[in-house]
Formats: sequence, C-alpha cells, structure tokens
Amino acid sequence: MRNTLRYVLLVVVASLWTTLCFIVPDFLDSPVSGPKSVAILFSYAAALGVGQFLLLYVFFADKYASAVIVPIYALLGSVVAYYRYAFHTTVTPVIIDVTLHTNPGEAAGVMSWQLFLFVSLNVLLSIAFVFFRFRHIRLSMRWFHAIVAIMLFVLYYSVNGRLKRSISQRYPVNVVCSMVDYMKIVSKKSSERALPAVHFNDSIPSLDVVLVIGEAVRADHLSLNDYSRNTCPRLSNRTNIVSLPYIFSEHTHTAASVPHILTPADSLNADLALTSLSLISCFDSAGYSTAWISNQDYGHTYADFIAEADTMIFPNAGKSVFVFHPWYDTDMLPHVCTMLAKNHDRNLLVLHSIGSHWYYNNHVTPEMQVFTPLTDNRVVTRNTAEQVVNSYDNTVVYMDCFVDSLISVLVHRPAIVFYLSDHGESLGENGNWLHAAGAEETKYPAAFVWYSDKYAELFPRKVKALKKNSTKHYRTDYFFYSVLSAAGIEPEGNNASFDIFME
Ligand SMILES: [Zn+2]
Repeated sequence: MRNTLRYVLLVVVASLWTTLCFIVPDFLDSPVSGPKSVAILFSYAAALGVGQFLLLYVFFADKYASAVIVPIYALLGSVVAYYRYAFHTTVTPVIIDVTLHTNPGEAAGVMSWQLFLFVSLNVLLSIAFVFFRFRHIRLSMRWFHAIVAIMLFVLYYSVNGRLKRSISQRYPVNVVCSMVDYMKIVSKKSSERALPAVHFNDSIPSLDVVLVIGEAVRADHLSLNDYSRNTCPRLSNRTNIVSLPYIFSEHTHTAASVPHILTPADSLNADLALTSLSLISCFDSAGYSTAWISNQDYGHTYADFIAEADTMIFPNAGKSVFVFHPWYDTDMLPHVCTMLAKNHDRNLLVLHSIGSHWYYNNHVTPEMQVFTPLTDNRVVTRNTAEQVVNSYDNTVVYMDCFVDSLISVLVHRPAIVFYLSDHGESLGENGNWLHAAGAEETKYPAAFVWYSDKYAELFPRKVKALKKNSTKHYRTDYFFYSVLSAAGIEPEGNNASFDIFME
C-alpha cells in the first residue's frame, strides 16, 4: 500500500512538471479579460493536467519501460513547448512536413543554446523521476494499474467533445493527431484524380493570374458593396475593381468550400470535388508556372490541390487557430514578388489567406485596428457584439490593405486578381457567431475581380462582359470556369452560365 501511495505521489509530481512545462505554454498568449477568464484558463490547464497524470501513470507502471519512454516524452515535449513558447508555433501537419524535409543547414538555423538548455534540464529531470521509480517503488500488479489508467484516459478523452478538441491540440495528443493527419495527406496525394478537359489559346504572350482565397469574409461588410463603414478605403480608390456582391456559397466551412471552388464541382456534380484535379493542373497544362502560397495549414480535403502546384510556400508554418499570436496575410507578399521575379511568362499564384478567421485581432496589425473597442477574450460570446463586429471589420480593412498591396505589385503587368472568400461569418444573427453551422448569413462570401490596364487591352470583350455580369447572382461554381476563362482556357462542355466573362 505504501508503495502504491508513493507511486501515485511520484506521478502527481511528474504530471505537475509536464503540465507546467509542456501544457501551460499553450495558454501564455491567450487573451484574457478579468479574473473570471483567467480562472477558466486555469481550469482548462488543470483539466489537461489530469490527462498528463493518466498518461504518466501508464508510462511509469513498468520501471524498465519508463526508463525509455519518460526521457523520450520529456525530450519531445520540451522541444514542442520551446517552439510554442519562443516562436508561438505549434505542431501541425505542415510543421511535420517541414521538419521531415529540413536539411541539416536549415535545422541548425532554428537551434539555440536556450533550446538545448531547456531540453537538457527536462531530460535530466525525467531521468531523476525514473531513478526514483527504480530505487524507491515496488509496484505490484503493475499491468492492472496500467490498464485501468489507459481505460480512464480513453474515457477522459471521449467524454466531452469540447474537452476532446482541446486535448487534441495539446501535447502529446497534438503530435499524434498531426502525424495521423500528415500520413493521411501523404497517402492521398497519390490518389487518382481526373484532369478536366480544357482547350486553350496559346497566343497569350504573358499573364499573371492570382487567386486570393479569402477566409470568412462576408460580402455585406465590404464598403465596395455599400457597407456603412469604410472597410475598403484603398480598393475603393482603385480603378478596374469589379465587385461581385451576389455570390452564394452552399458550403460554410473551409474544408468543404475550397475543394468546391477549385474544381468543376457544382451543386449537381458535387462529387467532382473528390474526383477531379483542380484548376491548378489546368493552368499547368496550359504552360503556367503554378504556386500555392498559404497562410493556413494543409487541409486534408484540399491537400491534393496544394500538391498540384509547382511550388508550395507556407510563410507561417506552425501557426494554428489555437495559437493566439498574430500572423498576417501580408507575410505572403514577399513570396509573390519572389515568384514573379523568376520571370516565367505565365504565372498562376493561389494565395490562401487567414483573412477574417477568429481570433480576429491576431490577423490585423495594431495600426490597422481602426474600429474600437476590440475583443479582449478568446471566447467569442464573452465579448460584446460591438467588440466582435469592430474586430471583424478591422480584418476586412486589413484584407483591403493586403489585396491593395498585392495589386501594387501587379499593376504594370498583364494581370488579373480574383478574390473569393470561402464562406461568410455569423456576427450575432439569431445568436450565431463564427461559421460552419450552415447559418444563412455565412452563405454570402465577399468576391471581386481586379484586372490591370494591360489585361484590359488583351481582353476588352471579357472586361466588358465582367462589368455587365457583376450584379448577377452566381453560386461559387462560377469560380473554376471564370478563372480559366480569364486566361483564355476553356473547359469542355457548355459552361456559359458559370462564366462571368461570357457576354
Ligand atoms: Zn473558412
């Protein structure tokens, strides 16, 4: 009995250590407003500490196994925690991909003596715990103890959906989940998708087609569409901007929407999102250099399309919506310049933005936070509606700045930019917030097109038709056909009703 008590005490102290060192860094950048939200964060950390206790209870059960598992657990945990604390990055499928493909020179660039010290101290501590386990505890029925703890961990992991999501984002479950997601993505890349049949005119000497996939930006919050606040001060002053205010998206979350808009899928042929290659391959077959520049993680529903591109760039690898630390869409712009500097005649660049994803303030630089007061709590419902709408509208102002800067890079080239958000966002309608629940207000994404003067010289009839069609109602099905049509690439079949460039 004394041994069991001593064993429980060992695991309690060890789990306090791992919770403090490997779990708490996840909460250090969480926005908190008042003692109540601090108390909620503490309760979250405590709930996650229970998971640490159950896992360590299993790891220490057999002393020989513990001598191997516990130091490895400490090594991995301290590396993950260090990068979470020092660089505000977490474990994601992209990070696993980057880690597996990093050469020794690049790896050396992210090492530091602080990392080495932090990891060494944790590993030494883990060895001290193992030493204590060897010297002072004789645990009888150790397999019984381990099996009970495993069963309790499974129960703990599955009893509450919200807690499960939180556990899945923390060490060590985040490492396992990201590995599983990464493996799924890698295995899917080899899946067979069919190339849509296209015809194209080879006489276009050079052209840049840039697609910006927006995130949760709703059409009625753009001053381009007569929103009462001036959320698009820069784009409003641009010539050659054509807003499409009446786009309908049947999908209200990224994973379903992005495959739909990049493939010939439509409401009658939804399966094409699963079986067809995307417009990236169509551009590739027409001789374009293609790049996917993303400020979001791999999504397993559209990882295939990312792999279709010649170049993949993730300027903010390791960021996730569970990391409450800023990262900005303008970080993608230097990579646009790099791609254009390669002097390919024809470029297709797909920019997947973080846009207006919650937590809104994280995606807007401080000087662009023009509407105040801002949200100050990571739980959306713990802010006032005024705070949420202010912070949301600031993301639209930032989008305006980001796309305007992108246009500045392209303005003297034959170029066209398509902006389409993947869906809208609920901002308190019927008590709804954020997106993905299928609410009506999340089905009207922002969309617009900008073209350069040189593009207008190349395709005057298309520009004329675009202006004429801009107030028509389209489903997001228009995107695939119109983007190809903008470059003179015509998919087979009768697609006139989807093509915004068709007179
Ligand atoms: Zn989305």
